[in-house]
Amino acid sequence: MTNIFQTQKKFPMTQAALREVIKKFPTPFHIYDEKIIRDNFRKLREAFDWAPEFIEHFAVKATPNPYIVEVLSKDGAGTDCSSIAELFISEAAGVIGEKIMLTSNDTPAEEFRKALSLGAIINLDDITHINYLERNARLPEIISFRYNPADIMNDGNDIIGRPAEAKYGLTREQIFEAYKICLDKGIKRFGLHTMIASNERKASTFIYTARIMFELAAKIKNELGIKFEFVNLGGGLGIPYHPDELPVDLKMVGEGIKELFHEILVPSGLGDVRLAMESGRAITGSAGWLVSTVLHKKNTYKNYVGLDSCMSDLMRPALYNAYHHITVLGKEEAPCDEIYDVTGSLCENNDKFAIDRRLPKIEVGDVVIIHDTGAHGHAMGFNYNGKLRSAELLIRESGEVELIRRAETLDDYFATLNFPNARLHLRH
Ligand SMILES: *Cc1c(COP(=O)(O)O)cnc(C)c1O
Repeated sequence: MTNIFQTQKKFPMTQAALREVIKKFPTPFHIYDEKIIRDNFRKLREAFDWAPEFIEHFAVKATPNPYIVEVLSKDGAGTDCSSIAELFISEAAGVIGEKIMLTSNDTPAEEFRKALSLGAIINLDDITHINYLERNARLPEIISFRYNPADIMNDGNDIIGRPAEAKYGLTREQIFEAYKICLDKGIKRFGLHTMIASNERKASTFIYTARIMFELAAKIKNELGIKFEFVNLGGGLGIPYHPDELPVDLKMVGEGIKELFHEILVPSGLGDVRLAMESGRAITGSAGWLVSTVLHKKNTYKNYVGLDSCMSDLMRPALYNAYHHITVLGKEEAPCDEIYDVTGSLCENNDKFAIDRRLPKIEVGDVVIIHDTGAHGHAMGFNYNGKLRSAELLIRESGEVELIRRAETLDDYFATLNFPNARLHLRH
């Protein structure tokens, strides 16, 4: 009955060290590891070290904290922003100019204006945005478009994605037209972008995406004479959330794309194109943990373990039925001979971090570690039921633990209200 996987996912601190941290910063909190973030970034970069130039525009939405963006920017990463707040985070972390790529959709004018003022690369999501941008801001010096390849098949003709059902990007017809319009308007510098996959761990998907994009870049060059400065293959690199899963073979991704680069781009006179990606999850996903304390145990028709965190700190299990590995501090080697639903406190039955999970016997007060919460974890949190979002901590490479965002307070929650007695909590 033991779950052999229990110990297969590591936490980067000893039990004693984490207990010290908890004394200083009460649970719940997300804690990130600087070294792992930098290692993940380095591995991605190494897969493309053959390319004339490679830039990773870190997807800020994955972990929208300027401390994290700053760590990456020091190693050379840019940012991928999709809101005005993310543009400000990028700016605060010192990432400006063409190191920023604005890949948004349904974009408000002020966001375009902010991006232009930072000198960011603007990546348009629709053909009508050319006029919108020109009318509400101005046309930039360099422009890029997001391509939606509709239903894409791999070589075996299986559908690997249904972008046709997605709201993003331009159709094949529109993308030729869009670049033509921009040429006619006098724009001289161009890039090309797509984002197809999400949490995908098959190397072949990324290699196939590159083929589609390289062929498209070559064809547009042929027809319109545009010499692209960059091709951005998007993000979507997956991580093994379950201990049974394998990580993406980044070396294979890099090698496969290198072959296509030489087969398609070089003969088309595009041999100096800069390759770009905008990964979020692959950089910070495995570098974060949600640390919680068990508040209650409840036995009814099932066995429940109730934590001091909830969906406001991690929505992925409820939203996507996503698996997040769970370990119990100090019980890493204990047999997993109990079965629990691990819940939060929302009045929503899907507020569960795990359902029917095999875990060691848990007591009230135990510290529970939820793994791989570094990307799209804290970031997605919301305040439904008046629940407050947790703090964020960063383990520096020196071993020092830094508070990089405090937990929300009731004051934050009531800050947008001007109802006279909405701040009664302050009298206590
Ligand atoms: C969300 C998103 C990303 C990052 O996705 P990951 O799965 O975290 O790699 C990159 N680009 C765009 C446009 C996105 O919306």
